Amino acid sequence: MLKVSTRETLDRPTTSHRKTLPSEVIVRLQDVSKVYDDGTACLQDVNLNLKRGDFIFITGTSGAGKSTLLKLLYGEELPSAGRVYVNGFDVDCLKGDRLAKFRRRVGVVFQDYKLIPNRTVAENVAFVLQAQGKRQREIERRLLPTLKMVGLSHKADCFPARLSGGEQQRVSIARAIVGTPPLLLADEPTGNLDAENAGRILRTLQNLNTYGATIIVTTHDRQWAALSECPILQLHQGQLYWVKKP
Ligand code: ADP
Repeated sequence: MLKVSTRETLDRPTTSHRKTLPSEVIVRLQDVSKVYDDGTACLQDVNLNLKRGDFIFITGTSGAGKSTLLKLLYGEELPSAGRVYVNGFDVDCLKGDRLAKFRRRVGVVFQDYKLIPNRTVAENVAFVLQAQGKRQREIERRLLPTLKMVGLSHKADCFPARLSGGEQQRVSIARAIVGTPPLLLADEPTGNLDAENAGRILRTLQNLNTYGATIIVTTHDRQWAALSECPILQLHQGQLYWVKKP
């Protein structure tokens, strides 16, 4: 398999050696390695450059390091070596309020959903817009169409505990996309979904992408990823390889 090289972007190799990032680069992993405190080596010299509007899938077996790679991108984990740049920020240097502000511009679909149990579906999704300081009218304008997109408008008033795993997963997707973030990170977003809902989620992500969002989706399901035209990469033994180039 062909390894992803240091300065490669999806459509052409970059010859620039500028210290600052070109403005269109929204994600850059530069020689990133990750070894957890207990000695588990997970990523080794990984390089990835994504521009605004890129949409990629990252596949790999369970334990390959897919979640870790996403965690590095939203600052939940720090690299052991290398640098991580997202949306113009050097993520490794962000702390406190600056990290919180940075995360408001990144939509994340977590594998374990992270829904607020004592809030309804609508309240869980609206919470993102409230945190962004959106007015009530704007929140109402966005809420229902987003729930419709993931097929959950009829569950708006339900609490998470009353939903199936797949429905909770779709709430977490609605929450990640409702604020139209410039970058969306989705960790196994169809792990609990049937084929019909997995197809619906793929269309929803593609729709968000047409509005310019950069999207990274991890999945163990290469067949699902292959339903789209998007490039596919694979994490294998800590390194990133092309499966389907753009
Ligand atoms: P994937 O998402 O591809 O299933 P992960 O990124 O979750 O893989 O995990 C990659 C490897 O790192 C696994 O061996 C996992 O056990 C290990 N790992 C993940 N998180 C931690 C942690 N907090 N501490 C130690 N090891 C971890």
